[in-house]
Amino acid sequence: MLIDGYDVAGGGIILKSEQTATEGTIFTNGEQNFRAELFEESLVAMILPKFLCITAMRLNFCTSWAVVSLAKLTNEQLERYSRHIILEQVGGKGQKKILDAKILIIGTGGLGAPAAMYLAAAGVGHIGLVDYDTVDLSNLQRQIIHQTADIGKEKIISGRETINEMNPDVQVHTYDEQITSENIRDIINDQNYDFIIDGTDNFPTKFLINDACVLLKKAYSHAGIIRFQGQTMTYVPDQSPCYRCVFPTMPPKDAVPTCRQAGVLGVMGGVIGTIQATEALKYILGIGELLTGYLLTYDALTMTFRKIRIPRNKKCAVCSDNPTITELVDYEQPTCSFGA
Ligand SMILES: [Zn+2]
Repeated sequence: MLIDGYDVAGGGIILKSEQTATEGTIFTNGEQNFRAELFEESLVAMILPKFLCITAMRLNFCTSWAVVSLAKLTNEQLERYSRHIILEQVGGKGQKKILDAKILIIGTGGLGAPAAMYLAAAGVGHIGLVDYDTVDLSNLQRQIIHQTADIGKEKIISGRETINEMNPDVQVHTYDEQITSENIRDIINDQNYDFIIDGTDNFPTKFLINDACVLLKKAYSHAGIIRFQGQTMTYVPDQSPCYRCVFPTMPPKDAVPTCRQAGVLGVMGGVIGTIQATEALKYILGIGELLTGYLLTYDALTMTFRKIRIPRNKKCAVCSDNPTITELVDYEQPTCSFGA
């Protein structure tokens, strides 16, 4: 097998041969040559059954080859995701996990827009978008999945179009509904989503998403942004405190203003939303340490991140051993929100 066109500066690799062999030579822009055995599992020669990759660092400092991936990806996918695949913690197998992943994003606003775009670029195979709103001119300062020409269009349609243009590997499932206690189970179960991103902007929905994820045993990322501040945490069933462990009940009416009332620096959604996307990818890949048991807060004015340890509340109304919340209910607090 010939593997050539190694991009030393970017650490990438370009595969041009579809032949298979038991031994191959890697040409590295004439700088060095490596010989490596390419183990053969399949006799099918259409698509590279296995794939050797070497990072730029290894190329320079190490004479041994690194990762043989068993993932069956197309040549186009190998090239599109090459910067993922050369990561030891991802590889071809990890990229295949991402391509098989199903992530539901509730709200395609300030948080959901950047999260959806990075997850689509990463190759998440199934992305669900939930929103019942239409694109407004005042959204465009931060909701980067929507364009000026999309004003008046349903957000889920606008979001789907952006994702489809970005990456044909992604199948977008849309839900033109306001999340309620009646439909949240069906929406989460529709594609049996692996991970849920809360990109909503109001407390009733945030509490509803938390309770649903606890009851359905689904991992999810909570987040909120306002003015120059943001916060996020990750919940994994049976492993970490839930949102309600930290905030047992909704704040009093009008205690927290909305972004409409208080304003929000547009980029806040980008910072916090992409952290949510990062957590989703780490969860899918099973790598690193998630923001479980911690609340991460961000102050853009002082450029301060704080990772605050949060314990599990043994008396939590929903995730404790003796929960008082066993059914989903809709909460009412229409004038109070904290989010996108
Ligand atoms: Zn809890």
